[in-house]
Order: sequence, then structure tokens, then C-alpha cells
Amino acid sequence: MITLRKDKCPVCSSGNRVSLGKPGKISEPFRNLAEISEVEVVRCLDCTAKYIYPMMYFSDEFRKKLYSIEYWHSNGAVEDTKNFGEKIAIMAEVKKLFGDPRGKSMLDIGCGTGEYLKAAADTGFNVTGIDVDSSTTEYVAKKYGFKTVTGLLAAQTFPQHSFDVIVLSHVIEHLQKPAELLGVIYEALKPNGLFVMCTPNSDSLGEDIHNLYGRFRYDRSKCYYLAPFLVPYHIIGFNMKSARTVLQRSGFTVEYSKLGSGLEWADTRRKLIMRSIKIAGAVLGKGMNIITISRKPTVPKI
Ligand SMILES: [Zn+2]
Repeated sequence: MITLRKDKCPVCSSGNRVSLGKPGKISEPFRNLAEISEVEVVRCLDCTAKYIYPMMYFSDEFRKKLYSIEYWHSNGAVEDTKNFGEKIAIMAEVKKLFGDPRGKSMLDIGCGTGEYLKAAADTGFNVTGIDVDSSTTEYVAKKYGFKTVTGLLAAQTFPQHSFDVIVLSHVIEHLQKPAELLGVIYEALKPNGLFVMCTPNSDSLGEDIHNLYGRFRYDRSKCYYLAPFLVPYHIIGFNMKSARTVLQRSGFTVEYSKLGSGLEWADTRRKLIMRSIKIAGAVLGKGMNIITISRKPTVPKI
């Protein structure tokens, strides 16, 4: 089901870390697993990323259980299009850096319910989506008619230099070894191609308040940053520094980076409070999400 390994920092390979406490909440799929009592949320003292230590590795069967279409339902993402404006805005930035997208190729990894693919197709790209779960790829193929691949992206999935643009949105924080996937992306991308990576800002004002609230309300010894045992099962928490670190270590040149307010994401609960926190976070430079666009250099870095 799950295996624990005492890995070094998944972002920068440092062994220097400080414990932030045991995770505050545990959802049903994990509840009867003895291993979870050993897991802590830690912060890397070098790149400042948060991660789970020891790191959890899931069996294929367990991963399927966690990330089936139920995952998207519980995220509210199947009632899609509400985040569509954000995708259109990011594709507009891609177009500024890339130039004319007509006839060029775009791959969305972890395409979920397909909003990035739609935004990119509307911009002019020929799009392909890949996702681990067939229920989501079938949904996208049926709804939009886009080309989809079911499975985990691996080195042999696509030939080298297949795509002009690759998008990885809200996936990297789920990965035990992000550098491995970034290496595969680097190879699948054409030289001078662009890589869009989006991930939640784990040091956002919203996360700070959530952590303080959890500690005050439930258990002061625990950590309410990251949610390894709750949908959406985040096991790495990036901030802007650690996001740039993981990209640069994989050979990319970061050309655009921005902290998004998160206001484009609709909240289902505590709407007024969440809106106020997001506005304050944006003003304080502690916005909810990290958006980066990086380029694969024409001449590889050695
Ligand atoms: Zn680190």
C-alpha cells in the first residue's frame, strides 16, 4: 500500500531539515495504515521547500484509489470552466514568449478535466493530454475530442523533442521525485521550447492562516501545512525559491514567474473570509499559487 523511504530533500537533495510536526489530519484511505504515524512534515533548511519525511511511496493500486475521478469531484473540478480564465491568461503569457502558436504542439501532463488543453487549443496549439486515470482522459476525449494518453509520463512515452510547449499544472507537489519527471519533460521538449509549471504556494498567507487555525483549534503539536493524507494529497510544498531551484537544477531557464492571488479559484466554503485572505495575501506578496514559464536552452547546460 505505502512504503516509507528516508529520502533527502526532493527539491535540492539537501539532508538539512527541521520538523514542523506530524500532519494534522488523516483521511479514510490512510486511516488504518500503521506507517503514517512515522511521517512528519519538514522544511528543508537549504531550498526552504516543505516535504514529507520519511517520503511516502504508493503502490499502483493505492495511487489509483487516491486519484480516480472521485478526486476531481471532491476538488470541485469537474464542474470546470471556473478556473478557465486563469488558463487563458497563462496561455497569453506563453504566446508572448513563444510567438505564433499555429501548428505548434502542446502537451498537458496530468490534464485532469482538460481546461488547459482547451485554452491552448483556442490559442492555436495542437494539443495532447496525458493523465494517469482513464476516467479523466476518456472525459477529455469525449468532451473536447482532444488526443489523450492514459498513464504516467515516462521517458519512452513520447520521442525526444516532441513538443514546443509542455504544461505541468498542480502535479509537481504530488511527486516523490520531481527531478525525474522534470528530466523526462526536458527531453520531450524541443530546444527553445517552453515549460509552464504551476503549483500552490505553500508559504501563502492562506496556508499560514490555515496552519495557525489548525494548531489553535485542534492540536498545537501538529502541522497543518501540506495535506499528505487529505485530498489533494500534497507531499511537497513549494514556495517561489524552491520552485525556481527545482527548475534550474533540471536545466531550465526561468523567464517568467508570478505569485497568483488565487482569486480566480471559486471557494465553496467561507467565501468572504477566503476572498479577504486572498486579497491580503496578494498585497503582502504571499499569494496562493506559483506560476512559472521556463525555457529549455538551445545549448544544454552541462
Ligand atoms: Zn531542499
